[in-house]
Amino acid sequence: MIKDIKTLGIYIHIPFCIAKCEYCDFLSFADFKQQDKYIDYLIREIINCSIDSSLYLVETVFIGGGTPSSIDSAYIVRIMEALKKRFTLSETAEITIECNPGTVDKDKLCDYKAVGINRISFGLQSADNDELKMLGRIHTYEEFLKSYNTALECGFDNINIDVMSGLMYQSVDKYEKTLKKVCELAPSHISAYSLIVEEGTPLEKKLDILEEKGICPLPDENTERKMYHVTKDILSKYGYRRYEISNYAKEGFECRHNMSYWERVDYRGFGLGAASLIDDSRYTNVRDFDSYYDMLDKGEEPFCEYEILTKKDAMSEFMFLGLRKCDGIKKSEFFQKFGVEYDEVYGNVSEKYKKINMLIDTKDTVCLTDEGMDVSNVIMADYLPD
Ligand code: SF4
Repeated sequence: MIKDIKTLGIYIHIPFCIAKCEYCDFLSFADFKQQDKYIDYLIREIINCSIDSSLYLVETVFIGGGTPSSIDSAYIVRIMEALKKRFTLSETAEITIECNPGTVDKDKLCDYKAVGINRISFGLQSADNDELKMLGRIHTYEEFLKSYNTALECGFDNINIDVMSGLMYQSVDKYEKTLKKVCELAPSHISAYSLIVEEGTPLEKKLDILEEKGICPLPDENTERKMYHVTKDILSKYGYRRYEISNYAKEGFECRHNMSYWERVDYRGFGLGAASLIDDSRYTNVRDFDSYYDMLDKGEEPFCEYEILTKKDAMSEFMFLGLRKCDGIKKSEFFQKFGVEYDEVYGNVSEKYKKINMLIDTKDTVCLTDEGMDVSNVIMADYLPD
């Protein structure tokens, strides 16, 4: 019998960083004591996972963190070799590694290239050194440029640059300068996020102290809104198409790995805290080293949460993830996946937002308008199960 081969995305979590940034609440540690042991166990998790790899073709791999480029490239090579041994990687797979400026050199980048990595994502955040310092980033803009140019020299032609708006003491002008400097470099992809002040971070504490003194260094709502619009305008002038709320790409360079999340393609995450979605079941890995090692020692998969999504949950997820994409969702795909018409389930939500020009609903497509994208959280809440 011929098996149906499905697409799989793989995420690898490397939880180490040279220093913690002020705003960071990602699962990462500024301590490398565990790195040797962690990589051994990570490889063990990959090799021993219960996935029937004969059912899947891996189309995307994303090595994220933390800062994957902060550890020796030999570790990354070992991880890639384990993946190739355990899974079938498509010849055209998109394989990304997140790099922080100043943590890569020519040897490292060439090692990545040699092992099949073909996409680099640089966490620049700002081209202003004062802003970088305030964020607690370890690099300067000049160090970023050096890393970026080295990646080009090593033959990487698919490079993402992350930028951030809404930073402390940031004016629209300053933000525009960062955007323009980045666009002049002509990377294939730009992710533009606004700063979120997460609970319990050093940034939150700092802001609380300033607030007590009556100082609010964050841009006000009006300025933030301007920054949001400036992002769309400038990036489109430089030939970047917005394809998701915060992501812009040159034609054909949309991040396939992230697209697969928004399209709910099966993915398996390996490493501390990594999440997986397989056949509408969601798994989350434990978040501390000891539990991770213990469970793998016992021959178990290191999951701490496991949830089988109901059809209602899966439909809702399909909608609120799909509507993040500017092209939205296809009603025919909705029917194919869930055996029920979109109009029957969400026709009323469409009507509500169509009337106020927030959403476009045609024969086969549902997507948000620019105005709808601006308030996407509100609209998406209407797609959540009751
Ligand atoms: S580099 Fe990224 S993961 Fe590491 S501390 Fe900074 S924001 Fe967090």
